[in-house]
Amino acid sequence: MNILKLLTTATVLAGFAFAAPAGAADKGLVGVAMPTKSSARWIADGDNMVKVLKERGYAVDLQYAEDDVPNQLSQIENMITKGAKVLVVASIDGTTLSDVLQQAADQKIKVIAYDRLIRDTPNVSYYATFDNFQVGVLQATSLVKALKADTEKGPFNIELFGGSPDDNNAYFFYNGAMSVLQPLIDKGTIVVGSGQTGMDQVATLRWDPATAQSRMDAILSSTYSDKKLNAVLSPYDGISIGILSSLKGVGYGSGDMPMPFVSGQDAEVPSVKSIIAGEQYSTIFKDTRDLAKVTVDMVDAAMSGKEPEVNDTKSYDNGKKVVPSYLLKPVVVDKSNWKILIDSGYYTEAQVK
Ligand code: BGC
Repeated sequence: MNILKLLTTATVLAGFAFAAPAGAADKGLVGVAMPTKSSARWIADGDNMVKVLKERGYAVDLQYAEDDVPNQLSQIENMITKGAKVLVVASIDGTTLSDVLQQAADQKIKVIAYDRLIRDTPNVSYYATFDNFQVGVLQATSLVKALKADTEKGPFNIELFGGSPDDNNAYFFYNGAMSVLQPLIDKGTIVVGSGQTGMDQVATLRWDPATAQSRMDAILSSTYSDKKLNAVLSPYDGISIGILSSLKGVGYGSGDMPMPFVSGQDAEVPSVKSIIAGEQYSTIFKDTRDLAKVTVDMVDAAMSGKEPEVNDTKSYDNGKKVVPSYLLKPVVVDKSNWKILIDSGYYTEAQVK
C-alpha cells in the first residue's frame, strides 16, 4: 500500500516534470541589480527588464539595494550563488564592484553595465545607456533658450547642481551642461551667483533631494537676498522637486518673483505634473522600455557568444578598458511637448494630470 502510494506520487511528480512548459524561463537565470526604489525611474527599469527577459525565455532575479552599497554587493553575490548566467547591474557606486565582479568572471558569468558605467574592473562586457553627455547638453540648452541667453545680454543668475559623485553619469551630465553654459559664463551673459562650480562643489551625494534642498536654501540666503535667481541646472527630477520647494519657501513662483527655470531628468510623474502646472521648466525623457530592449539584446549576445550591436567604442573608459556601449537618444520635454510621453504610450494622460 505504502509502496503503491509512493509510486503513484513519483509518477505524478514525474508527470509534472515532463509537463513543464518548454520555452518558459529555460534560457537560464539573469540577475538584475537595481540601485533603489526611491525613484520611479528605477522601478520602471526593473519592470521593463523583467518583462523583456521573460518574453525572451529567461528566468529573472531582480533586486533593489535601496542605495546601500554593501547591500548591492551581497545581492550580486547571491545572484552568482544562485547560478545566474548573466548579470545586469545598475550600480550605486560604480567603483565598488571590482571584487564581486571578479568572482563572476571566475565563473564565466558575463556582466552588462546598465545605465551607469561600472568602473575599475576589466570584468564588464558591455554598457547599455543613454547618451549621457547629450543629456547635459539638452538640460543646459533648455535653460539657455528659456532665459533667451543666446540672444539677450543678461546677466542672468544661475545656480548649478550635479548628481552623485560616485555615479560616472553625473560627470557626463555636468560636462555636457557646462559645454553649453561655460562660453556664456565666460562672456558674462550667465553668472553663477554663489560662485560654486565644478563637481567638487555642486555634486549631490546619492542624488538625494533633501541634500539638494538644503544646499539651495543655503545659497538663497547667502547670495540672493538682494537679487533674483533666474535658473537652476538640476540633473534629476527628484533633485528638481527639492530645489523647487526651497525656491517656493522664499517666495519664488508668486507675486513679482517668477519661478526660476529649473531643468530635470527622467520625466518622473511628479515632475511632469509640475511642468504642466508651470513650475519645473523641463526634464529629459529616457524611454526605459528601449533601454531594456537594448540590454536584453546584449544578454542574448553574451549567452550565445556573439557580439551585440554597439554604437560607441570610445566614450566610456572605466579605468581598465573602454567598454563597448550602446547609447540611446535622450529627449528634452517641456510644457510645449509633454504629450510625447502620452503619444509614445509611456504614461496615460490620467497619470500626469
Ligand atoms: C541616471 C539618471 C537618474 C540618476 C538618479 C543616473 O545614473 O542616468 O537617469 O536621474 O541616476 O537616479
